[in-house]
Amino acid sequence: MRVRNVQGLSQSEQRNSQNPAEPGSALMISRPKPTWTVLESEELYRISGWGEPYFSINHAGHVTVSPQGDRGGSLDLYELVNDLAARNLGLPLLIRFSDILEDRIERLNACFARAIARYNYDGVYRGVFPVKVNQQRHIIEAIVRFGKAHQYGLEAGAKPELLIALATLKTPGALLICNGYKDREYIETALLARRLGHNTIIVAEQLSEVRLIIETARRLGVEPVIGVRAKLSTRGINRWGSSTGDRAKFGLTVPEIIEAVEQLREANMLNALQLMHFHIGSQISAIATIKEAIREASQIYVNLAKLGANMRYLDVGGGLGVDYDGSQTNFHASKNYNMQNYANDVVAEVKEACQDEELPVPTLISESGRAIASHQSVLVFDVLGVSEVKAAEPEPAGEDDHLVIRNLYDTYLSINRDNFQEAYNDAFQFKEEAVSLFSFGYLSLQERARAERLFWECCKRIQKIVRELDYVPDDLEDLEKILASIYYCNLSVFQSAPDSWAIDQLFPIMPIHRLDEEPTERGTLADLTCDSDGKIDQFIDLRDVKPLLELHKWREGEPYYLGMFLNGAYQEIMGNLHNLFGDTNAVHIHLAPDGYRIEHVVKGDSMKEVLGYVQYDSEDMIESVRQETERALKEKRITLQESQMLLQNYERTLSRYTYLA
Ligand SMILES: *Cc1c(COP(=O)(O)O)cnc(C)c1O
Repeated sequence: MRVRNVQGLSQSEQRNSQNPAEPGSALMISRPKPTWTVLESEELYRISGWGEPYFSINHAGHVTVSPQGDRGGSLDLYELVNDLAARNLGLPLLIRFSDILEDRIERLNACFARAIARYNYDGVYRGVFPVKVNQQRHIIEAIVRFGKAHQYGLEAGAKPELLIALATLKTPGALLICNGYKDREYIETALLARRLGHNTIIVAEQLSEVRLIIETARRLGVEPVIGVRAKLSTRGINRWGSSTGDRAKFGLTVPEIIEAVEQLREANMLNALQLMHFHIGSQISAIATIKEAIREASQIYVNLAKLGANMRYLDVGGGLGVDYDGSQTNFHASKNYNMQNYANDVVAEVKEACQDEELPVPTLISESGRAIASHQSVLVFDVLGVSEVKAAEPEPAGEDDHLVIRNLYDTYLSINRDNFQEAYNDAFQFKEEAVSLFSFGYLSLQERARAERLFWECCKRIQKIVRELDYVPDDLEDLEKILASIYYCNLSVFQSAPDSWAIDQLFPIMPIHRLDEEPTERGTLADLTCDSDGKIDQFIDLRDVKPLLELHKWREGEPYYLGMFLNGAYQEIMGNLHNLFGDTNAVHIHLAPDGYRIEHVVKGDSMKEVLGYVQYDSEDMIESVRQETERALKEKRITLQESQMLLQNYERTLSRYTYLA
């Protein structure tokens, strides 16, 4: 991986070297101080690439949020966080912008409406939101509310999600797609819900379900609407695994689909088979893959109609991608198409297939989850401290010092534009030598410390030269990593960004303030858990990923807030309680004419709640510690005052937020 130079850094690096006495003075020519602008931050963090039209930067150097996209006003995210903190909503804080959710739903429906008009498609689009993407009640309720005008429905992938959908979806005409593995109870519930007016469509994911649906429908005397999920041979190649292909977990192979048709025909229920569904996986980065899948699926659809099924719906599943790195490429964190291209391709391909066979076109359904839910939430967290390589003028080495230390010091003095590569190799060699001399007892601990400090000083000086180059020589690629800082952050990756840990998913991360100031540091992020995997060391970049994030110098006692963006899909529910860090505080913000309105506050877990999940009873715990305290008191190992302090702390902590205050 290439540690690339970032435009604009080089000159200002120079202005930051405020040590005129430093040797190697070729570097020290002072130039006029160019000031860092928010435009440079915008470019550096690629915010318009992934954030448009919702996120940008204002003149104060703060991230702003325009929850209604191009249609409405904006909020200063930094000020919002401070406002919320004053209301006792501490960090880490998940901020959900319900207007963004509304805008996403509007956009998706508008894209399909445009495509339908453009291709004279004689049918409609009826999207459904897959509940598994974010089951939070306030979110599902908002989606149903915002989607009403478009008869936007829900997709359930399991029994509890079906229960959510039945309790929430009240939109006449909206679809309720029932996916996932099903037992008798699931099917009964879905069928009986039709009696309430719900438009449930039961999608068979396995052949055995077809028989169960037939039997149950007969027994209840309810006319079902049935779909089949096809295993396409088109594969969605990405890190979300293959949800398709012959070995996929779900779906019917073509022979099984034929078998299902025969079973339904024999049961005199072929009329009920009305939907054909496929899902080739999430975050499909290449439009070519999507086209190929739709083409294959359309043919299956057409053939089902020809076999006598009463086909009316084609459900293209999920997969509509999100451009996490803003590169508009087929990289896994991006996508090389936009929502309109997607809608156009679905509409055009399906129309063509039906036209060829002179069949009426189906109602189109997509189960787009990621594309609807990602943008609406932002996780803001604070930096608690930094571990960094401190810059200091090294103390000169003299006659009495060990040779290896003198060598390192001489190397340090010699560094210039012509020899920096050689100097780096020398310094590295001498540092290794020092370590091995130490291991054999020839160097004291203090001497080793000096050698290491000298090595870092050499690296720092070389780094200054390298940052001004247009490209980084291969053997110096590790330089930035050696000098990188670790920013300790008040969050748990396992709770708030599980996909970052589990499948190396990239989310845009950047400071939400000080963006009018140059981020001179390079760092990785470490979370609060004591797990060495609890870190973030891959960041979005135009090409590939970068191992370090540009950050501002951390100033003790001053807040430094980072935002993780586009994490509204999947992360919340897959987050886990590693180290017992619980749910974060969450707020729902709605843009109002005079600023904003807090629609809901969902308090994060307290220690007591988190401990309850693992079957600890807080009263019992307090009692246990109290008894021990009594014993210690009796044996005079603790004073009364100390014992009270301990117990009060213990009790107070139990009701606190699991993160650092
Ligand atoms: C997960 C899933 C979806 C959602 O996919 P996205 O890529 O998030 O849009 C849709 N349908 C099914 C069957 C799924 O399993």
